[in-house]
Amino acid sequence: MTEHVHRHHHADMLSVEEARDRILQAFETLEPACMNITDSIGLVISEDVYSSINIPPLDNSGMDGYALRSEDVQSATLANPISLRIVGTVPAGHLPDFVIEAGEAARIMTGAAIPDGANSVVPFEETTESEGFDRSKLRDIGIRTPVKRGSDIRLAGGDVTVDQKVLQAGTLINPSTIAVLASLGRDTINVYRKPEVAILSTGDELIEPGLSSEPGKIYDSNTSGLIASVIAAGGIPKPFGIVRDNLSQLEKKISEAMNSDLVVTSAGVSKGDYDVVKDALASRGILNFWSIRMRPAKPLAFGVLNDEKLAKVTPLIGLPGNPVSSMVAFEQFCRPAIRKMLGKQSSLRPTIKATLTDHIYNHDGRRVYARVKIVNEAGSYTATTSGSQESNILTSMAYADGLAICPEDVPVKGPGESVTVIMLNWPEEMI
Ligand code: AMP
Ligand code: MG
Repeated sequence: MTEHVHRHHHADMLSVEEARDRILQAFETLEPACMNITDSIGLVISEDVYSSINIPPLDNSGMDGYALRSEDVQSATLANPISLRIVGTVPAGHLPDFVIEAGEAARIMTGAAIPDGANSVVPFEETTESEGFDRSKLRDIGIRTPVKRGSDIRLAGGDVTVDQKVLQAGTLINPSTIAVLASLGRDTINVYRKPEVAILSTGDELIEPGLSSEPGKIYDSNTSGLIASVIAAGGIPKPFGIVRDNLSQLEKKISEAMNSDLVVTSAGVSKGDYDVVKDALASRGILNFWSIRMRPAKPLAFGVLNDEKLAKVTPLIGLPGNPVSSMVAFEQFCRPAIRKMLGKQSSLRPTIKATLTDHIYNHDGRRVYARVKIVNEAGSYTATTSGSQESNILTSMAYADGLAICPEDVPVKGPGESVTVIMLNWPEEMI
């Protein structure tokens, strides 16, 4: 292992950014698909959305109260209410079939259409109705306050007008966006479709979780971690299970996996053992084996698979096998590719600045992504490593909130120093 590390000179290594740029060039935003609005959460709208209606459609009441003519109640006071004759009731969803004349009022509910003739609403609280009159016998109502014209009336088109562009292509859909679409009368929306991501884990040592343990074997954690990472990134995982380090099996699985938008493989890309993966891929496309100037996750394969039958090319990202390496490389290379296919504006996670409480060591000039826990101490963040930083120590990844960066040219970051942290999770205590 160490032999391979030193065999590679830094000049042969790609920076994370160079590798990511090259990878992202192989991806385009996917074609739009029409979806039920309630299935579109987290996706990106691919059309400009115009309204064919006014919202609200009619002038309507902002309160439960009485619709009346403001000029009739200008001299009203608490002690000397002005009495108006009740000519009807307007529940929400029903159009009034009467007109308000001088000296008249209508009981009206929030959202109900304002009857013609009325120009304002007085809430129940400002009338004699609030004093416990028998509502079934109400004939007249005392108004205890003057109101301005238009008071408590929500105007037609006050939110959205006919032909207004309400949402732009490129908008990320959140629950409120979905509610707005529903308010326009839409039940479907065009969005950039979700990429299907094939996941293949290679290794003779792997057994599937759920089976009994076997001597010399380890459970395949990468498949499950990658399935979850694909879902979290907005893609649709297509797991192909464990593939043995066996050429014909690998070739067969890769052929099946090519009918997807991205193929992600785990393991078999580090020096010494990538022959099987290399051979399996050689016949199907062009593959590059890179060393990235990062820790963990130095080895990475990237290329395109050619499917003559489907007449298409499918990008492949070959992740290193060590569990933390596979997750960190997924973060740096696969997640941005998935986000680009989804049409998302930014392909990267948010970062914060935090004060380190312990050490991050960088002994060979690669950029270190250190697993850290973040604590919010009176508004400023501290970062503390979450355990061993070896690439096989998966628990420290699970305990981490983010990845703190120690740059390529910095041999160590110590307590009190500021670090940039890529946030993977936002602990609830931080907010
Ligand atoms: P490789 O890239 O094949 O040299 O694997 C590097 C290390 O990652 C080895 O210790 C493997 O056993 C381990 N590894 C590979 N694939 C997986 C996996 N799917 N789940 C957990 N560990 C793995
Ligand atoms: Mg292996």
